[in-house]
Amino acid sequence: MDEAQARKLIVEVGKLLYDRGHVVAFDGNVSIRLDENTVLATPTMTSKGRMTEEGLALTDLDGKALNQNKASSELAMHLLIYRMRPDIHAVCHAHSPHATAFSAAGLAIDKPILSEVILTLGCVPLTEYGTPSTDELTEAMKPFVPHHNALLMANHGAVAYGEHLWQAFDRLETLEHTAKIAILAKALGGANDLPKEAIGKLIEIREKAGFLGANARCQACGYLHEAQIACDLDVDYPGNGDSAVQKIAFTREELIDLLSQAAKLG
Ligand SMILES: [Zn+2]
Repeated sequence: MDEAQARKLIVEVGKLLYDRGHVVAFDGNVSIRLDENTVLATPTMTSKGRMTEEGLALTDLDGKALNQNKASSELAMHLLIYRMRPDIHAVCHAHSPHATAFSAAGLAIDKPILSEVILTLGCVPLTEYGTPSTDELTEAMKPFVPHHNALLMANHGAVAYGEHLWQAFDRLETLEHTAKIAILAKALGGANDLPKEAIGKLIEIREKAGFLGANARCQACGYLHEAQIACDLDVDYPGNGDSAVQKIAFTREELIDLLSQAAKLG
């Protein structure tokens, strides 16, 4: 995609984010990685519903400005994702109300209740609170970025990313829609989880179809492990910090611990 097309697309997606209620005022930000070291991003202090193609900010992968427009102060979140995931070319961050309600309540979206969501998104972990636009926020995200395509940030909002901007936007909408359905189901007495065998089948299908790669098997939620899907910790992207792998491995050990304790009790 050339720069002119990318500018047009960011303005279009910004309008959609605003019109569909994912953001108000200056909330949220969107970016596209144009090439190895150039990022086109939404500008700071601008409504996503009222952006112009000329108003967008151009930066390098360290966040250094390449034109006169100042990028969103939350660009560091986007740059972290680009650095850790060479397969990702677009990031979409918003304060979508139902997803953000989960994040404010301290809840991940990690219950296997909808087959479509397992196919296209997997589970969405909750990262610890970090002050927006500081290292605290990006440090909290690091362990999850390699294995997830969307994250909830505690008391803040949601971020989703993809190979192109429509994929990132669709993932954000799937996340918001799932959060809404989960809240509605709770009002009806609570959603039922899909059976373990069904989850295993869905994971097979999504990998065959190319919806999600094997890296998504190492997601931080329990249901993949409960479904006895092998988690290959060697799946790695260049640029991953060791800390990411260690953090996930620790989570698994905890899980194995819990399972063996449960077996003893049983
Ligand atoms: Zn934000």
